[in-house]
Amino acid sequence: MAENLERLKQRIPLLEYLQRHNWKPCRAGSRQEFVGLCPLHQETRPSFYVNAAKNLFYCHGCGQGGDLIRFVQLFLDLPFRQTVALLEQEVTPAPVSELLEETAAFYRLQFHLHPEAAHYLEHRGLHDPALIEELGIGYAPGGNLRRHLFLCGCDLDMLLEIGLINRHGRDAFCRRVVFPCHQQGQIVNLYGRSIGAAFPHRLLPRSKGGLFAWESVSSFSTVILVEGLFDLAVLWQAGFRNTTCAIGTQLTPAQLTQLTDQPGRSVYIAFDQDENQAGQRASQQLTLRLQHAGIRARIVQLPHGHDPNSYFVAGASAADFTACLREASRP
Ligand SMILES: [Zn+2]
Repeated sequence: MAENLERLKQRIPLLEYLQRHNWKPCRAGSRQEFVGLCPLHQETRPSFYVNAAKNLFYCHGCGQGGDLIRFVQLFLDLPFRQTVALLEQEVTPAPVSELLEETAAFYRLQFHLHPEAAHYLEHRGLHDPALIEELGIGYAPGGNLRRHLFLCGCDLDMLLEIGLINRHGRDAFCRRVVFPCHQQGQIVNLYGRSIGAAFPHRLLPRSKGGLFAWESVSSFSTVILVEGLFDLAVLWQAGFRNTTCAIGTQLTPAQLTQLTDQPGRSVYIAFDQDENQAGQRASQQLTLRLQHAGIRARIVQLPHGHDPNSYFVAGASAADFTACLREASRP
């Protein structure tokens, strides 16, 4: 185990990993020492040091330090084992992403064979066939993924390990509408929304990736951030293509870095209005963090008890939502 970890760290040098994630280093003193802004906390003066020879980092601002695995754990907010699995996958990326592609394609096909999936989307206010196609939405009727992937020559152990099937051999996404989550053109995770009585939300036990569709949304100077993919879907359908989603209210440092990568950007936060105030609290904390990073952040108030999805389902129009955005911009 220890040997494997050493090999993994040698194959992905820390400095190279950081630079691939947009870290801008300056040389600090010796030939192998670099300094730059800390990707783990918001700061304006660089206090994040990397020793490329030792493959270690230390931040004098937030006090975090360690090796590549420690960094990725903090950056993507993942437990140790999942971090190692993710990095191993980066060294040999093809099989897992191919498997996820194959699964998403299979579920897209199933979507058209099982009318309950389209009925569910209809009931969540999503009816534009072109958008459903564009988002790559599929459906897992349950019980047949294993057979299909087996026929494609996929390794069953890998299906189990990734979490696509459970130990009884059944689809983990059984009776769920499935959205693929992409990053740099590859599927990195799947989100499944239960259409029955099961717990509503499910992601594979791996990184949820960056902000949803960030490749297309990042070019907008004004961005709407929502909590769930159904919020995003109805907003896109209503023409708000500058909407992105963190899948939840807690942004990973990687997602926060994306949101703050363009100074002067305005972010409208439209999280759920929860009975227990969880969404409201998360919005307020995020607003402060964004403002600290020089981003104009505003909280969108929807009518009581609504999230963007339920607001549109209840009959709101694009003009109604625009009015909420306008209201949020008032000083
Ligand atoms: Zn720091």
